[in-house]
Amino acid sequence: MNTKHAVKNIKCDICIIGGGLAGSFAAIEAARDGAKVVLMQDRPVLGGNASSEIRMWVRGAKGIFDRETGLISELEERNIYYNPTLCPSVFDATLYGMVQENKNIEILMNTTCLDAKVENGRIVSITGWQLTTYTNYKVNAAIFIDCSGDSILADLVGAEYRHGREARDEYSEELGQAKEDARTMGMSIILAARETDHAVKFTPPPFANVYPDDSCFSGDIGQSIHAQVRDHKVATSGANLWWVELGGECNSIYDADKTRAELIACIYGVWDHIKNRGDHGMENWELEWVGALPGKRESRRYIGDYVMTESDIKSGGHFEDEIAYGGWPMDDHNPYGMRKNDEACLPSVMIPVSEPYGIPLRCLYSKNIKNLMFAGRNISVTHVALSSTRVMATCSLLGQAAGCAAAVAALKEITPREAALRYTAIIQKILMDHGVFLPHIRREVSKLTQRAVFNITDNERKRLLNGVERPRVEADENSITQKIDDELTLHFDKPEKITSLRLCFDPDFTRESISDNKKMRVFAMKLHTGKDFKPVRVASTLVKDFIVYADGKEAARVENNFQHLVSLNLNTTANDISIKWISTHGAKEVRLFSVDVQGEENHLNENSP
Ligand SMILES: Cc1cc2nc3c(=O)[nH]c(=O)nc-3n(C[C@H](O)[C@H](O)[C@H](O)COP(=O)(O)OP(=O)(O)OC[C@H]3O[C@@H](n4cnc5c(N)ncnc54)[C@H](O)[C@@H]3O)c2cc1C
Repeated sequence: MNTKHAVKNIKCDICIIGGGLAGSFAAIEAARDGAKVVLMQDRPVLGGNASSEIRMWVRGAKGIFDRETGLISELEERNIYYNPTLCPSVFDATLYGMVQENKNIEILMNTTCLDAKVENGRIVSITGWQLTTYTNYKVNAAIFIDCSGDSILADLVGAEYRHGREARDEYSEELGQAKEDARTMGMSIILAARETDHAVKFTPPPFANVYPDDSCFSGDIGQSIHAQVRDHKVATSGANLWWVELGGECNSIYDADKTRAELIACIYGVWDHIKNRGDHGMENWELEWVGALPGKRESRRYIGDYVMTESDIKSGGHFEDEIAYGGWPMDDHNPYGMRKNDEACLPSVMIPVSEPYGIPLRCLYSKNIKNLMFAGRNISVTHVALSSTRVMATCSLLGQAAGCAAAVAALKEITPREAALRYTAIIQKILMDHGVFLPHIRREVSKLTQRAVFNITDNERKRLLNGVERPRVEADENSITQKIDDELTLHFDKPEKITSLRLCFDPDFTRESISDNKKMRVFAMKLHTGKDFKPVRVASTLVKDFIVYADGKEAARVENNFQHLVSLNLNTTANDISIKWISTHGAKEVRLFSVDVQGEENHLNENSP
């Protein structure tokens, strides 16, 4: 700490380091669960690799019915509404707004965590340096969650961690290395381009690499079906140049700036190649943006109470303490990146994952530091498992889960390990109530809802209350449909205190109503802008306007809703709750996956010791 500058002290329940998607969602979840949170982020915007600074697309489990919900879908739905043209800076602002609106989160932007104090295996405080104010912030907290990607706290607090690739026999991983090594996946700098209606010239800066022809990128790669060739067809739906990658053979933290300089030369060289060397049909395209920060894929992974491996991923990850899931293929990049260009060193090898696999809470807290948790690409997994868990929708679920578990631990004044041992069911319930899908667990509706008599058939009632809020397979029936102007009524045989109402609408899992562009249907983000780009639309299936009545009197009116999960405070006592559908964003019918009313039950009081 530089003591010549001011020191400000802050006390909170949970301190989160790193404001990528994992850290931002950890902060929001913990705050919504009642904890006082500090979020320390070393850069001027939130979002990490998804932010306008790096611009990677959010990806997650393959399969339309396996898409991630919870805070990540809330962000996507907000972004579609506020940012239909998918401007990267507005994406930053949307995420910032989602964090900033929580009164119990203090955001320390432009603040780099660089020191920590530890006593008896417990972190007492961390210190961050705020670039814009020349101020040291010292944060005392009950729980610390490291979401920095690089695991900044690992060395500072003496937490066990791993860097590099394990030997095949260490965890019986077929995809492991013959011998362990210190190599990792590399880092990348990408660019964004825009199509104009006139020819645009490009003169490369003098430091740009020269790639005279396509053989510089395709090499001797052959036709292997799992091989990723270095596609450089830039278009709205085109390549994002993720393969402009280097740095995995050196240290991905301490050599990162040297690698940045090399990557800048590569990316300008690639654009020079596209524009000037061979006919790529890109005469009218101009360079709009080039990254300045290398996006990282891998560095230090903490060791938790459990280390997840290739076999967990292949066998579906059935864990009692499942709090998140993954489903992206095992997508392992060659550490040499662009430096090597042959069959033995493909840019990436993709091994599909047959079903979504669960991730246990034990991968999110430290084996040896009592109050340290982590989320994102630094969780307790092997290198092979990381090649799947590292994508950002998975990291988002991990962040949300870590925030929830940390809030339970902090509010009950116990360690994350104790929370995992005693309160896993409660953590799972809170997460599912907040919209998170857990593939091997069903959400339980409240006892109050189970007591209600509905004005729909028994079969429809069963579907609404079965705890599954999506079709698991095509034509799977876990929802009901109602007409506009229909009313759904829950009747109780005596007046009941009703604090809140939770509704889960159809987010349009196919995303067909959101965009005609298949890429934007995976997650609504864009990199390049061709003239064919059309703004995305709010999913037609989302219910726009509806009214809630308690014993015939209006208790809530919702106008212009654009979220698929809606929770309303009602604070009423009634025999009947009715919901009248007024309009959708285009669909002719309302499709509802669940309805749930809450009485005075409180998760954190349930099963109290
Ligand atoms: C080129 C590239 C392509 C990829 N492609 C995809 C893709 O298509 N889809 C996908 O989903 N994933 C992709 N990934 C993987 C994914 O981007 C990362 O695994 C993911 O971003 C990790 O999330 P995170 O929240 O752990 O870390 P990050 O997104 O890196 O966030 C970490 C945050 O911590 C902050 N931070 C770091 N150190 C400190 C400190 N000392 N103090 C305070 N703050 C700190 C950083 O500023 C950053 O905001 C790609 C990665 C790269 C590099």
